[in-house]
Amino acid sequence: MIHPVKQTEEHAYELVVGLEVHAQLTTRSKAFSSDPTEYGAAPNTQVSPITLGHPGTLPLLNHQVVEDAIRLGLALNCHIRERNEFARKNYFYADLPKGYQITQHTTPIATEGFMDLKQADGQVFRLRITRVHMEEDAGKSMHDQDAFDSLIDLNRCGVPLLEIVTEPDIRSAAQAGQYLTELRRLLRYLDICDGNMEEGSMRCDANISVRKKGSAQFGTKVEVKNMNSIRHVQKAIEHEYERQIALLERGEVINSETRSFDAGRGNTFALRSKEQANDYRYFPEPDLQPVMVTEEWKSAVRTAMPPLPAELLYDFTTRCGLSEYDAGVLTETKEIALYYNDAIAHTKHFKAVANWVMGPVKSWINANALSMKDFPISANSLARLCELVEEGGISHTAAVQKLFPALLNEPEEDPSELANRMGLQQVQDTSELTRLAQEVFMAWPEKVAAYRSGKKGMIGLFMGELMKKSGGKADPKLATKLLEELLEG
Ligand code: ADP
Ligand code: MG
Repeated sequence: MIHPVKQTEEHAYELVVGLEVHAQLTTRSKAFSSDPTEYGAAPNTQVSPITLGHPGTLPLLNHQVVEDAIRLGLALNCHIRERNEFARKNYFYADLPKGYQITQHTTPIATEGFMDLKQADGQVFRLRITRVHMEEDAGKSMHDQDAFDSLIDLNRCGVPLLEIVTEPDIRSAAQAGQYLTELRRLLRYLDICDGNMEEGSMRCDANISVRKKGSAQFGTKVEVKNMNSIRHVQKAIEHEYERQIALLERGEVINSETRSFDAGRGNTFALRSKEQANDYRYFPEPDLQPVMVTEEWKSAVRTAMPPLPAELLYDFTTRCGLSEYDAGVLTETKEIALYYNDAIAHTKHFKAVANWVMGPVKSWINANALSMKDFPISANSLARLCELVEEGGISHTAAVQKLFPALLNEPEEDPSELANRMGLQQVQDTSELTRLAQEVFMAWPEKVAAYRSGKKGMIGLFMGELMKKSGGKADPKLATKLLEELLEG
């Protein structure tokens, strides 16, 4: 039981956090064999003798894993190592049939990077990335599926992982959440990990300590293992912060230990102390040659790099003149950002397209519980629809209420032809509008005189009459301009 900490005590302490994330790569085959990696396959069906580590089998490196690691390393502004070695990390566990995990021990592929995070106050917080390294996953033990036995699924054995480690720069649970959200978004933009934390394709260990404010030294840290939601990580940090301060305030010491987060209770409990830490007896993996990452390889990866959220955000706010908020909404997911990016290649009405994407398009996605890739209208077609409205071809109301739904049903149709067929086109023909205006003036001679003697408010009446005569189809902007010209002239 933890005693609540008084505000004054909390103010005297500072939180220090460093995060370790394991990201499962979406490569089609495993890190060192051609076994498939599909999630959700029947247990123990993706397990060749290589995965099972039978004697005499040899690992063969999947080069896509290295490529993905370079991608992430570059996106995190890291230095990329040229000569990459692999090591064996030895331990015995039922879900590790080989008896060791292949990892990069002393030679992580990417080091000394950073991620810039925009704070609520507008300041940029630069979180340092210590390293990114390649390794393989272990199998999955399930202790709660069967009343008597633990069950083991070895499909996950050998699935490639990138481990991403930060410096102990994080000072709040909110910052930790922001970093994890950004990292997940980055992994998705890079197309290397689906970032699905519930399915375990992104897992996080949090290293947490506290120290007296102003102290130059870090306190003893506790490591909370394997959390599978950002919310859990934040809760674990908040809980540890309070627990550790309470211990120190009672004059006790913090044990260097590994803990687990209990999602039900919202607290953490000790798993093992660091004194009992495993000795993994690392040694160089004798069956794998070092992989050389040449300058050519690096620059090829750089050239093929997809657009990243930070770049798109910058482009949307500067070139397109969108607000930070709008640009943030549009870059939240890669699919929406790329759709918008594609649409603005076809029109200059940047803000109008943004409103369409954030409004009717997102509503459609939400209402149908689908994602952007299921949205039937092409980016080009949406841009055309947008131009039709912006250039007065049809009214905004008609576009939202009639044309957009019709286009959803017939996405192959040209928006302007469809609008024609549905009789939605506004009257933009000046001679037709002039004829209608003259009719209005003939019917209201005394109002015309009133207008000319200064009652400019009469314009509303003329507009209303003209609209009626056009069957509601006059282009309002054009008609107003024309009425004014005719009355002034
Ligand atoms: P270990 O050898 O125990 O794994 P490392 O030095 O490799 O420790 O660091 C692992 C993680 O712990 C890194 O993310 C690092 O930023 C973080 N870390 C290190 N010291 C502290 C500390 N005192 N408080 C919080 N996090 C820390
Ligand atoms: Mg560690």
